[in-house]
Amino acid sequence: MKHISLMGATGSIGTQTLDIIKEHPSEFKLVAMSVGKNLELTRKIIRDLKPELVSVSEKSAANDLKAEFPHISFTYGEEGLTEVAVYHRADILVNAVSGSIGLTPTLNAIREKKTIAIANKETLVTAGHLVMEEAKRNQVSLLPVDSEHSAIFQALQGEKEKNIERLILTASGGSFRDRTREELESVTIEDALNHPNWSMGAKITIDSATMMNKGLEVIEAHWLFSMAYDRIDVLLHKESIIHSMIEFHDSSIIAQLGTPDMRVPIQYALTYPDRLKLPSAKRLNLAEIGKLHFSMMDLDRFRCLKFAYEAGKAGGTMPTVLNAANEAAVAAFLDGKASFLQIEDLIERALSNHNNISNPGLLEIQEVDLETRKYVNSVL
Ligand code: NDP
Ligand code: MG
Repeated sequence: MKHISLMGATGSIGTQTLDIIKEHPSEFKLVAMSVGKNLELTRKIIRDLKPELVSVSEKSAANDLKAEFPHISFTYGEEGLTEVAVYHRADILVNAVSGSIGLTPTLNAIREKKTIAIANKETLVTAGHLVMEEAKRNQVSLLPVDSEHSAIFQALQGEKEKNIERLILTASGGSFRDRTREELESVTIEDALNHPNWSMGAKITIDSATMMNKGLEVIEAHWLFSMAYDRIDVLLHKESIIHSMIEFHDSSIIAQLGTPDMRVPIQYALTYPDRLKLPSAKRLNLAEIGKLHFSMMDLDRFRCLKFAYEAGKAGGTMPTVLNAANEAAVAAFLDGKASFLQIEDLIERALSNHNNISNPGLLEIQEVDLETRKYVNSVL
């Protein structure tokens, strides 16, 4: 029986993680969870799965819930996230919170020797060097949940990282795959939230439309698999059936395939190195699909991907700026305060405005993150 603490339980990855836990009650037990503001769903999860510790965003919500569920411990705010991440009865932390707010709890959980199943890519983008150093020092495994990285991780089993020629991340192209840049000028929030293959949280759905999601994933892959940026390629693949591939030195390519269903990579991170049946998952029928399509990625069409490669290669605090500017710009778009194409302009301005700091520590990263968000909001 694995004891799980889950950050972001009310989100898209969070609720799918709970589905896996419910589907295998003799394998997994939810012991701690964090949520944000969705208290209705929080109450339902508490009744269903009876975690021992729950963290919410606001203190008042923690007090209200304590009155309703006196046998459960409640906490709140950013410190609450860390309390959940390091909960003493948990073996594994599933980090499915959205944004760089996941960084400090992750570092603390690593220091407490928790295995980390990481969906929260912003944590690796903003401070990949710190997370990887800490994981190495504490001999803690970081198991990818993001489907591309899970695919690479699965293709790597029984292989050695030193035999890799390059990684090939596949990209669906997001909601606006077939639109020209001119057509992007007038797109609405509703258009952007309508992803063709995956149903996900709002922030990552916008990231997929701008292609920043793939940019964040390139940086995530750089850290998870110690791979130089010029050996990470992105290929457009509109069906999202091949989740990513590794090309080895001898030209052999190993790919991982499946229907687009995040529960599969989530479950693999929870059961690794074993596999469990997942009866509710739809099996892939290639004969029914017939054809798969691939095309080159255009970095002028998808400027955010170019920014991510540049920020990743520059290193230091540039990826922190990339991530924080993107979080602030996407939040502004979702608030109706910025247009879709303004997202990339805001990121470009934040990057060119920043004086890079090499090998930053946690405090510098937190400062740069905050400064960048302020800068983006002041430009707006
Ligand atoms: P959602 O927006 O659906 O969920 C985010 C979760 O985090 C919710 O539980 C939310 O709480 C909580 N949360 C958000 N902000 C805060 C905060 N400030 N303090 C505490 N809790 C907070 O996101 P997703 O599930 O889509 O994505 C989660 C992460 O996984 C992201 O990093 C994303 O990039 C990554 N990912 C997601 C994939 C997907 O298919 N969705 C695929 C691959 C990676 P509440 O709703 O209660 O306010
Ligand atoms: Mg992904």
